Amino acid sequence: MTLTRVNTEVRFWGVRGSMPAPGPHTVRVGGNTTCVSLQQGDYLLIFDAGTGVRRLDEHFAAAPIGSLHKRLFLSHYHWDHIWGLPFHCLAPNSADGLEIFGEDKDGLSVEQILARQMAAPIFPVPLERVSGKMHFHTIRPDSAVAIAPDLDVSTCALRHPQSAIGYRTHTPGGSLCIITDHEHPDEGLSQQVVDFATGATIMVHDAQYSPEEKRGPKSGWGHSSWDEAALTAKQAGVERLFLSHHDPARSDDELQEVLQRVRRIFPATELATETTVLEI
Ligand SMILES: [Zn+2]
Repeated sequence: MTLTRVNTEVRFWGVRGSMPAPGPHTVRVGGNTTCVSLQQGDYLLIFDAGTGVRRLDEHFAAAPIGSLHKRLFLSHYHWDHIWGLPFHCLAPNSADGLEIFGEDKDGLSVEQILARQMAAPIFPVPLERVSGKMHFHTIRPDSAVAIAPDLDVSTCALRHPQSAIGYRTHTPGGSLCIITDHEHPDEGLSQQVVDFATGATIMVHDAQYSPEEKRGPKSGWGHSSWDEAALTAKQAGVERLFLSHHDPARSDDELQEVLQRVRRIFPATELATETTVLEI
């Protein structure tokens, strides 16, 4: 008997941090905010629903309703990670069977937090109009969720204002580790993040700032420098690093310069862009 392994595909739909940044200077890397997917067979895992999720919805628009088992994992609830969520909930085949995972915060459940985003007069359609098709799950740092027999997701606490969660998938072919949004302490890398990422096939890491910005005016804003992303990849021994959560002010040309600099620390580095498609 021959066992055929199901390919696992990773796609980036939005790679920008903080604010969408469309325009001629960002067209190659992309201007949409964070959204990454991992598809294995009928299972579609979505990590964050920034404005990039609109591109994901377009891509899967032709999929028959109910044909995909969709799981949405939210790192946190800052705008750039949930901007696209109301429209994702209303997309024709998106809400059907959607399972949403996130942290409870300030005594509010995931559903209560997301309902605020769609409450009048901020959005015309309340969450309860579509929430009947969805399931909401509380997820905590340092936990794990079994998705399918050969697919599970584990979590890690990240250092970010009002906290965030890092995710790591485990599949027979390897693992995808997503570290955004995270600020390493100035005195050294966060050991729990290095441990969490150890041996990952692909690590996506927050690389919003230059080392000078991160130590100076952007200290405490909850993000890493691109050098810290590279050093984390090196210490964790990951196979490939993808820099993401690019600063909205950073042009395509500037990001190419960042990439060349980071490759001197960790050669197996790429920029996450909206056209990046990977197989694990
Ligand atoms: Zn962010």
